[in-house]
Amino acid sequence: MAKKVLALGEVKDGELRNVSFEAIGAAQTIADGGEVVGVLFGENLQAHAEAMIQNGADRVLIGESSELNVYVTDAYTQALSKVLDEESPEGLVIPHTSAGKDLAPRIAEKLNSGLVSDVVGVEQAGDEIIFTRPIYSGKAFEQKSVTEGTVFATIRPNNVAAPAKDESRSGDITAVDVSISDLRTTIKDVVKKSTGGVDLSEAKVIVAGGRGVKSAEGFKPLEELADVLGGAVGASRGACDAEYCDYSLQIGQTGKVVTPDLYIAAGISGAIQHLAGMSNSKVIVAINKDPEAPIFEVADYGIVGDLFDVIPLLTEELKKV
Ligand code: FAD
Repeated sequence: MAKKVLALGEVKDGELRNVSFEAIGAAQTIADGGEVVGVLFGENLQAHAEAMIQNGADRVLIGESSELNVYVTDAYTQALSKVLDEESPEGLVIPHTSAGKDLAPRIAEKLNSGLVSDVVGVEQAGDEIIFTRPIYSGKAFEQKSVTEGTVFATIRPNNVAAPAKDESRSGDITAVDVSISDLRTTIKDVVKKSTGGVDLSEAKVIVAGGRGVKSAEGFKPLEELADVLGGAVGASRGACDAEYCDYSLQIGQTGKVVTPDLYIAAGISGAIQHLAGMSNSKVIVAINKDPEAPIFEVADYGIVGDLFDVIPLLTEELKKV
């Protein structure tokens, strides 16, 4: 049955994140031929709204406010609740990012609906929309469908296909009033930690280092390989605990969950808590001196060897491609 479905886009550092287009893709499947409405909050959103239309949204609502430039729980909950009150959609899709994970349960409570979180697949089966999501730290998947109320899902970046871009598409871009009041929290300043150019959670290629990297200096060859591949550098908690790198790079159960096309794990043993954050990567390459390291059990390709020999060789060869 055709539905009206809202897809919330996410703007970070002035850039519209790719997962916004993936949210539109999920919304299209849920809408089943109905209307997909993009939603954006912040400032200077016109170009992003046009991009959402070119990437499959039928129209876009923009809530301009300086208080929505950076994610703040109260402000975003108020703004999105207002849009939902006005639009009364039958479906809503939000990126499963740190902001989306915080926002979604509050919105589910406002909508008095359920929430299918951390979705990695959306498909139509007859009249039903089937959502696939990982459970038990990524060791298994479950499938769910929503039988009543608003169909509300958060989608994990890099998993749901975004619609193909079509520059000839057009649609209305409408400003909505999202005047925010009585905020309990405001952001005064954002102090950034430098983690390189590519956002880990959306990176297509990740080169991750573990305790086997041995020092902060030891991460240099990994950074060079990531540069050549246009990817990002990640780390195990072992490497973060040893102060070889910042915790913002940590991947795993208590770090970031990533699903790149290629994950290169160097000097990482493959503890269950690390696997929870990366085992759904499309291709996993493990480099480890120990042939018995558990990481080889989830790897598609394994290289038994010293990472300080293997990584520079890989980088040199890839530079030639
Ligand atoms: P190690 O287990 O010490 O492995 C180092 C590996 O490097 C070894 O396999 C060794 O053979 C190899 N090696 C050494 N030198 C070289 C070399 N020169 N070349 C190639 N290989 C080499 N961990 C996470 O990663 N993410 C999490 O989110 C996380 N959350 C946790 C939550 C809880 C509640 C707990 C209890 C633990 C958590 N951990 C997490 C920690 C996890 O259990 C492991 O301790 C951690 O992942 C180990 O990191 P590591 O693989 O880098 O180190």
